Amino acid sequence: MKEKKSKKVQQVEKRERAMIEGILEGSPDGIGVVVVRLECGCRKMAAISKEGEPASKIIMYRDQANAICAKCKEDHGSFVRVTESFIHWVEPAPSEQLQQEISLKVLGSNTTN
Ligand SMILES: [Zn+2]
Repeated sequence: MKEKKSKKVQQVEKRERAMIEGILEGSPDGIGVVVVRLECGCRKMAAISKEGEPASKIIMYRDQANAICAKCKEDHGSFVRVTESFIHWVEPAPSEQLQQEISLKVLGSNTTN
């Protein structure tokens, strides 16, 4: 029952990019950052190592707000409310195979609707 994800290229938004750069600065082992977009508009991000392990704390934030929304405070950004999740790779990005392995490890449990 494995569904192939569509080959849509995920574009990092401007504000997300700033966050990603900040996360990577604090995570020298990070080879990429997982970006999780929630339906409420909040974001969840964390750097990952080349082993596919977290290389930073999970950061949650909300654009143009001091805090994440009430819902996220309650459920910490439950996966059921995730609209998109992908990995932004640090350049040069790892091999396609490694990207797939890590994606599977990090995002694999998310079902695509
Ligand atoms: Zn939220």
